[in-house]
Amino acid sequence: MTTIKENLENIRIRAQKAAINAGRDPLSIRLVAVSKRIDISAIKEAYNAGQTIFGESYLQEAKDKIETFRPAGAEWHFIGHIQSNKAKDIVSCIDMVHTLDSLKLAKALNRYAAEKGKKLAVLIQVNVGEELQKSGVLPRQADELVCSLQQLSNLKLSGLMTMPPYKSNQEEVRPYFHALREMAEKFASQGYFHNNEQYELSMGMSGDFEVAIEEGATLIRIGTAIFGNRSPRP
Ligand SMILES: *Cc1c(COP(=O)(O)O)cnc(C)c1O
Repeated sequence: MTTIKENLENIRIRAQKAAINAGRDPLSIRLVAVSKRIDISAIKEAYNAGQTIFGESYLQEAKDKIETFRPAGAEWHFIGHIQSNKAKDIVSCIDMVHTLDSLKLAKALNRYAAEKGKKLAVLIQVNVGEELQKSGVLPRQADELVCSLQQLSNLKLSGLMTMPPYKSNQEEVRPYFHALREMAEKFASQGYFHNNEQYELSMGMSGDFEVAIEEGATLIRIGTAIFGNRSPRP
C-alpha cells in the first residue's frame, strides 16, 4: 500500500512527464483531487502533502466537508450534476463549477452570485461522446449556451469540461479530448471565454490523465489514483 502523499507525488511526476513530452509547461496543469465519498482524514492527509484543489460531486457531502474543514488556500470545485434549485448552496461554498449544462442553471447561479457580489468561475460540461446516460450539453448545443452566458455578468466562463465514454484503452479516449480542445479553441478565437489566452480544459481522470494532458488538459480530476477505491454510492 502506498500513502496518499506518495500517490500525489507519483501523479505529479507522471503529469509533468506527459506535459514535457507534449511540449507544454507543467505549471499550466492543475490537479483536482476528487474527494467524493472520501473522509476528512484522507483529505487532510492530501492537504498536508501540498494538495489545495478538491473536487466534490455531491452537494450535501461537499457542504459538510467544507464547513468542518476549510483550510487556508484550499479551493473546492464542483464536478457533479447540479439541479437549479441547488444553485444558492453551490454559489455559497464552491469556487469553480465544472458541470454547467443548462441556461436555467446558469441563470440561477448568476442570480445568487450577483446577490453575493461574487463572480463564479464556471466550465461548460460537454457530452462529447453523446451518451444518453451522461450529463452535459451535446456538442451542437454548446454554441448556444456559450453565447447566452455572455449576458450573465456574475459568471466567469472559464472553459470546458468533459467525461468521455469509458474505454479500457486510454488511446481510445484521445479523440474525445481532442474534440473538446478544438471546440474550446474555436470559442476562444471568438472571444467567448473570460480569459481567451488561458482557458481551462477540465479533462482526464485516474485512467487517462496523461492522454488528456497531451491533448491540452489544464485541470485533471483524479480520485482513485490518489485516495484508492471509494466506498459505494450512498
Ligand atoms: C469521480 C469522478 C472523477 C474521478 O475519477 P477517478 O477515476 O476516481 O479518478 C473525475 N471526474 C468526475 C466528473 C467524477 O465524477
